[in-house]
Amino acid sequence: MVTPRVGMVGGGQLARMTYQAAIPFGVTLRVLAERADDGAALVGGDVEIGSHTDLEALRRFASGCDVVTFDHELAPPELLTQLEAEGHVLRPSPAAMRFAQDKLWQRDRFGALGLPVPAHARVATVEEVEAFAHSNGGWPTVMKAARGGYDGRGVWVVRSPEEAAAVLAEGARGGLTLFAEAMVDLEREVAVLIARRPGGQSVVYPVVETVQENGMCRELVAPAPIDPVVAAHARNIAERISDAIDVTGIMAVELFVARGGVVLVNEIATRPHNSGHHTIEGCVTSQFENHLRGVLDWPLGSTAAMAPAVVTVNVVGGPSGGDPRAHLPAALAIPRVHVHLYGKGPRPGRKLGHVTALGADAGEVRERAERAAAILVGEPA
Ligand code: ADP
Repeated sequence: MVTPRVGMVGGGQLARMTYQAAIPFGVTLRVLAERADDGAALVGGDVEIGSHTDLEALRRFASGCDVVTFDHELAPPELLTQLEAEGHVLRPSPAAMRFAQDKLWQRDRFGALGLPVPAHARVATVEEVEAFAHSNGGWPTVMKAARGGYDGRGVWVVRSPEEAAAVLAEGARGGLTLFAEAMVDLEREVAVLIARRPGGQSVVYPVVETVQENGMCRELVAPAPIDPVVAAHARNIAERISDAIDVTGIMAVELFVARGGVVLVNEIATRPHNSGHHTIEGCVTSQFENHLRGVLDWPLGSTAAMAPAVVTVNVVGGPSGGDPRAHLPAALAIPRVHVHLYGKGPRPGRKLGHVTALGADAGEVRERAERAAAILVGEPA
């Protein structure tokens, strides 16, 4: 085999965008998608339909690949460990992915490594949540599910013992492990992407601001408008984490910048991530290309910015359920915007695509990207 076969477990938009990075290298990307209408399955030439929770399906898929990587972290850890034991090359390794699969485990390990994390404790009773809140700034406090959350699902801000009791009951119904976490007085949220090869060589991207709304990332602003000392600290934290967990490919570190400039690690993802979509046009090498380079143990590409200001705005389904594909020509009438649609059916609150704009002035660039995104969901500003 002249060009390696890379397999990606999961057929969502991240796999779809990884295809675009694989094409110029002539790399064959195989995708294990759950459904034929998953974003990557709609565009890929080498798609297998199967579940990431089915060991047989994973095994069959991995047998046709030189390297297996992931577009999500939902495959059960024990299945991944089994595949690794059978000799399949998994990048990142199951041990590195475990950090992204369990927030509580991640917090505990990162704390033990001396990394700054919010105060937290596992909770199973109202008394435990009350005691935690009492010794960590009072109400409101945050409760989180250790596993399975995304886009704010699995995160609850609770203002009273009664609200905590309701979350505990919901957790018990879903069989969730819950923990309480101190409410951070956020100045802003940022992310650092880093790409790493198996031998440890890595490249770090400039810090990006992740503008959140109701627990979901709505915009990326690069570079993040933060003190360079804070930015350097954030990048250093990402490097320390990537070495500590021995990650390969892309890792995203989501960080809280608390008022006063204190940086805390929120969570990591050991794969291409929503906080790195601006890198497609906004950096010399996109996160998807560097993910491929990293998992293939190839030289990593430059992370330098392509413009003084880069803004990405997510295209999120509006209440009317309009389809962005219907508004594409109108959005493209705006000069110098890059539109990415993920091929997903429109639903309110669903991430359907994103728009990136580049330029000299952050305010102007942001306005242009927001305008295009609003047009796409049929709600022009
Ligand atoms: P998800 O895994 O769903 O992305 P996160 O743990 O990142 O969940 O939380 C989603 C959002 O909720 C964060 O981006 C942040 O805006 C808010 N949030 C989470 N934890 C805290 C906290 N301890 N203090 C303040 N805000 C928080």
